[in-house]
Order: sequence, then structure tokens, then C-alpha cells
Amino acid sequence: MSKSAEEEHRRKAFGWAARDSTGVLSPFNFSRRAMEDGDVLFKVLYCGICHTDLHSLKNEWGNTVYPIVPGHEIVGIVTEVGQKVEKVKVGDKVGVGCLVGACHSCDNCTNDLENYCPKTVFTYNAKNYDGTVTYGGYSDIMVANERYIVRIPENIPLDGGAPLLCAGITVYSPMKYFDLNKPGMHLGVVGLGGLGHVAVKFAKAYGLKVTVISTSPNKEKEAIEHLGADSFIVSRDQAQIKAALGTMDGIIDTVSAVHPILPLIGLLKSHGKLIMVGAPDRPLELPVFPLLMGRKIVAGSCIGGMKETQEMIDFAGKHGITADIEVISMDYVNTALDRLAKADVRYRFVIDVGNTLTNAESVTGRL
Ligand SMILES: [Zn+2]
Ligand SMILES: [Zn+2]
Repeated sequence: MSKSAEEEHRRKAFGWAARDSTGVLSPFNFSRRAMEDGDVLFKVLYCGICHTDLHSLKNEWGNTVYPIVPGHEIVGIVTEVGQKVEKVKVGDKVGVGCLVGACHSCDNCTNDLENYCPKTVFTYNAKNYDGTVTYGGYSDIMVANERYIVRIPENIPLDGGAPLLCAGITVYSPMKYFDLNKPGMHLGVVGLGGLGHVAVKFAKAYGLKVTVISTSPNKEKEAIEHLGADSFIVSRDQAQIKAALGTMDGIIDTVSAVHPILPLIGLLKSHGKLIMVGAPDRPLELPVFPLLMGRKIVAGSCIGGMKETQEMIDFAGKHGITADIEVISMDYVNTALDRLAKADVRYRFVIDVGNTLTNAESVTGRL
């Protein structure tokens, strides 16, 4: 019989896990691997709550292994480093995003695209190379090889910086790869949630003209006055769509619900690019004729490699970009997940793990 999560490794760890597809989280004792030469151990202080956490907890993608400890927007302070670690030292502010491993020999890996490696090891709900399960950041400590450790710039607050490790890189990477970061360009951002609001901030820092496209007219004031977007389109308002046809160099589409993309293609100039970063669970209808008329592109993008993730957070530090967050205590996490399912958050929940994760011993009363 395989070992229990608590006995798998020698280093005791504690977090919150879901045991079944109700997705309800509760205290959980497990273990982290012993330090290897290239490893960094850090005390987790904050962890963002991503939509992926919600999907995984409820097994909505059918691949969840229980118990699951979610969380891939993890930040904290280094407490121990392996002998060969050069990137960080004890006391440094660091983070781990969606990845903790890859093959390091394929084309993707040699081009700093570990995120597209076929053997990517995700931060939680995945199998590590030693066969053990990976557990995420709703927990007290984290261990990762230094390749997967991101240095957090001094001026970035850890709580508001945490969501950049998933939401931030998800929108930054396509802006860069698809050349949608040149000053003066016009970028559309579809959906004003965890990803969308950060996309607006990065785009403004690059000097772009930004139009937010949303189903909710009541987000207009927020988008323009608070986030600095230049204009706002209600996606169901045909007159507003018509007025903006053929005006955008690119669109970052963050919506993960099934939605029509024909109007979005219409908003693009010739050679315009529609980049999908949300993941609808059913195929979207792709109208081809409007693509031909103007040599337009529809493409996808998924997080980013480690080198680019570091570059993204350094850029965020330089421009003072953080996510807008609601900090919560660990025991509020189930309520937060219910609220997230109803899109009732502005714009990201971040768990104050450092101050509110109560030690296992006191919870179970074993001391
Ligand atoms: Zn995420
Ligand atoms: Zn690889």
C-alpha cells in the first residue's frame, strides 16, 4: 500500500484540502519532500485563489486526485536553501506560480517555455517525478527547485503581488509574444475579472489605448475611473460594437464561459489578433470568413515560462502593478470559493496564510 500524504516525505506540512468533489476544504496534515541541492524552502505568507482552484476542487475537469491542496499563486519568505541554490537566499521574498517541474530537455524547455513542455509538473494535483502528488499553496510551507522560484521585487506587496504569478503572467505573456505591447496600439480586454483587470494595468503600463469589453454595463465606471481604461463596450450592445468595428490591433479574451467570438473578430483591424486565455469547457464557434477578410488571427496562450514570469514581475515592480485583492483568513476560504463561483469578488481573493493558518496540532488537539 502506498504511504499516506503525511508519511510520504519527512518534512511535516499542514494546509487545507478537499477530500471529495463537494470541494469543501478543511485542515489537512501532509508532508513536503526533503531538500535537494537545488531546492528552496519558503514559509508561505499569502496565496491567491484562482478560478482553476475552483474547477479542480470540484473535479470539473475530471482529473482531480483527492485529497487536493490547491493554490498556485504562492508567495512567502525563504527559510532554507539547498547547497547549489544561487538565485535566492534565506530571508528573500519569493513566489511559486503554476509550475514546479518540467523535463528540461525538450524544445520547449530549452527555449524557456516550461509551460508548454509535455511533461510539465503543475504545482498541485499533479504527479512529481518521484511519483508523489504535488500540493499547492493553501499550506504553511512550500518546496520547489530554484528554477521554479520567482524573486518578488522589494516594492511589490506580497499580498497584491501573489495573483501576478498566475493571472499576471497569463495576460502578460500573450501581449509580449503577439507584439501587442507597442505604445499607441489599441487593445481590447474581454472580461473584467481576475485576469482582465490585470491585463488593463499591464496594457496601460505599456502605453496602449485600452477598451474593456464586458457583459456588465455597471463595470464601466470602475474600468475607466479606477483601472484607467480609455473606453468601455457592452458586448451585447450592437450599436457600441458597430461603432468600434475595425479599430483594435489585438484583443485579450479572458472569458471562460462559452461566448460568441464573431463580434470580437469584427472589432479587429486587418492583421488583428484575438488571443484566448480563458478556457471554455465546450468548443466555440469559429467563423472563418471574417478571418479571411483582413488576414486576422485567433490564437491561444497559457501562462508563461519561468524566465518570462520573472520578467513579468520585474516589469510589474517597475510600474507598480499589483492585483486588486480582498484579503481573507484561511477559515473563510470555503465562503470565498462560493463567492468566486458567483463572480462576487473584486478582483482576486488572497488568503493571509501566514497569519491565519492555524497549526494542525492545535486543530486536532493532539498536543
Ligand atoms: Zn491560476
Ligand atoms: Zn520539456
